[in-house]
Amino acid sequence: MSADPDERAALDALWAVQQVDARLLDARGRLSALDDGSALRAETETARAAAAAAAARLHQALAAVRDQELQLQTTETKQKKAEADLYGGRVTNPKELAALEEELGAFARARDHLEDRILALFDQIESLKREDTGARSSLAALEERLRDRVTAYEAARREITAELETLERERAARAAAVDARLLRKYEGIAAQQAGVGMVAIIGGFCGGCRNDVPPQFVSRVRDGQVVTCERCHRILYLDGRGSSSGNGG
Ligand SMILES: [Zn+2]
Repeated sequence: MSADPDERAALDALWAVQQVDARLLDARGRLSALDDGSALRAETETARAAAAAAAARLHQALAAVRDQELQLQTTETKQKKAEADLYGGRVTNPKELAALEEELGAFARARDHLEDRILALFDQIESLKREDTGARSSLAALEERLRDRVTAYEAARREITAELETLERERAARAAAVDARLLRKYEGIAAQQAGVGMVAIIGGFCGGCRNDVPPQFVSRVRDGQVVTCERCHRILYLDGRGSSSGNGG
């Protein structure tokens, strides 16, 4: 077969589509690689649960200390009453007096116990408060990072989406200039070969898989024939720099 300018033009038109497809592939790759904040959102939810648990522990300890303080108050009241009975002179029966003394001893022990318990709870509350504050500030920091991440993601997504729309329009315009059968063949190969259906021959090698392209293949491509790489099956192209009639599309 001899060189056919129309066939050359057909390959050039398909190559023009491929150039846009490469940019589409890149933009889609960038879109899917965007961090939408999912990992950070999960981290934030974990921190939220931790903050809620810390708040609950603090709340529980505060309730416990109030309860113990109330018990202490009641014990003190009873103790004062028993002291008044003991030292007020109303009770004179030795048996009753002995019983009152015993009761007073029990109240004193109960008070000691409650006071120890309250002091221990105060210590615990101090550390629980620190824990609560720490958990809440970690959560707040994560929430802020998440907001920033989502904002950045949305901005990048809008930008790439607009870029894709422009490229899609350009692609449609360029594809309209390509023979329908050739375009289908190209798209079929692209679907099988990581989105790349056509590659340039660079220095005698396939630009897709680096396999040698035999010289007779190169001249057939130069003639405008549809030739595919023996290894990766992509349509081969000689771009403007490697041939005489490139048009820089
Ligand atoms: Zn190849």
